Amino acid sequence: MSTTVSDSFFQPSYVVSRERLLASGHGLASRLGLTVDSRALAERGPEGETLALDFMIFGARHPRHALVISSGTHGVEGHAGSAVQHYLASRILPRLELGPDTAIILQHANNPYGFAFNRRVNEGNVDYNRNFLEHFDREKVSADYELLHDILNPPDLDAAREAQRWEEMQRFVDSTSLRHFQQVALEGQYKYPQGMQFGGHAPQAGAKHLLALVAQHLAQASTVIWLDFHTGLGEFGACELITGAAAGSDSHRFSQEVWNGAVKSASSGESLSTPLNGLLDRGIEATLPGQCRLAFAYPEFGTYPTDLVLRAIRADNWLHVHGDPGDATGKAISAELLEALRPDNPLWRRMIIEKGARLVDQALTHLPGVRRQGAVRASSA
Ligand SMILES: [Zn+2]
Repeated sequence: MSTTVSDSFFQPSYVVSRERLLASGHGLASRLGLTVDSRALAERGPEGETLALDFMIFGARHPRHALVISSGTHGVEGHAGSAVQHYLASRILPRLELGPDTAIILQHANNPYGFAFNRRVNEGNVDYNRNFLEHFDREKVSADYELLHDILNPPDLDAAREAQRWEEMQRFVDSTSLRHFQQVALEGQYKYPQGMQFGGHAPQAGAKHLLALVAQHLAQASTVIWLDFHTGLGEFGACELITGAAAGSDSHRFSQEVWNGAVKSASSGESLSTPLNGLLDRGIEATLPGQCRLAFAYPEFGTYPTDLVLRAIRADNWLHVHGDPGDATGKAISAELLEALRPDNPLWRRMIIEKGARLVDQALTHLPGVRRQGAVRASSA
């Protein structure tokens, strides 16, 4: 695949991605069958557009076996996930035949607000992937987050004070470890609504929509394989498969079977990711019918070094609490966050498509009721 070809699957914005994916989906409807269930948020996008989760079910309306590909859990990271969805819609789905009990589902934009406004969090400054909890404890925060609160959430970006804060952060890393710092900064906290990594005080509208879609459309499922695409952790263009399921659990074992032993458990400390609170895959597993087998993985594609990505996320949080997204500083910070989570680099884009296609291919091999016409690998493109 040439880099130009893989570039074409990346879309310039949430709204263009949404419209094109819905159009491609309708183009496949007569061949595969299509049910679209769109759940809109109350908020509108930057151009006044609808912000919605679009659950596009190809094949069986009430599937027993389903592969779900979702994007945009972390808003702006949806550029990569949706590119894989566009690849699927144009290169893989047209070559599939599905049995009467099987469906392929594209869930576009779990967090459409973040995707549309170029943020990682949602409309409530909530990290959507820390929001899947049954009970919310408004005091839940680690002692070390409290200790680092003012450094992680600075009131200003004054150069001299910032230099001091980064020195202090470095001293914390030196006296503990980079991994511990990552844990503190990223695990999710529930005490500071304006702070980084806020997990919410209640289930967010988007999270409720996603679980309602699962409850409604996957009520008869006995096999669900699910990929939720992310970016920002790991080496440039490398991909790690992460699950929130504990190592050795049924779900982790089934994921290992599907992706050839490559899935790392965040909760068991095997992954580049440290353990995290309120993960989406935990919410999905709890919502699926009891007898359903779930193989779930977050493909996490690396972009830049962790400190650079963290700087961008931290600055974006400052911007939306203290700054002005419309001024020059605001625009520079938004551009920095976009680059940190969707590098403007043809090689990186190509790696997303090629590796994403391979993961989907492995999933299709384990999904009952799928017949493929000819090769579906990325190299055929
Ligand atoms: Zn993410």
